[in-house]
Amino acid sequence: MDDPIYDIELEDCPICRGAGLIQDEQGWSVSVACMDCGAETAHAEYRTPEERLEAARRVALLWNMGKVVHTGMSD
Ligand SMILES: [Zn+2]
Repeated sequence: MDDPIYDIELEDCPICRGAGLIQDEQGWSVSVACMDCGAETAHAEYRTPEERLEAARRVALLWNMGKVVHTGMSD
């Protein structure tokens, strides 16, 4: 699939160093989440494909700055 939001560079998870993944929530918002510990950025809403890419870049930036909330289990 040729989707530009998945080409955005993502750093490792700021909490556990796991892999971050862009999540597209049913066509209305995007966020970045860690598949290992469940850390997640805020969701950014969009209405158009252009806004979607912008929103994805915004959450990727939050992720890369370590601005995540840890909603998973503590260990
Ligand atoms: Zn993590």
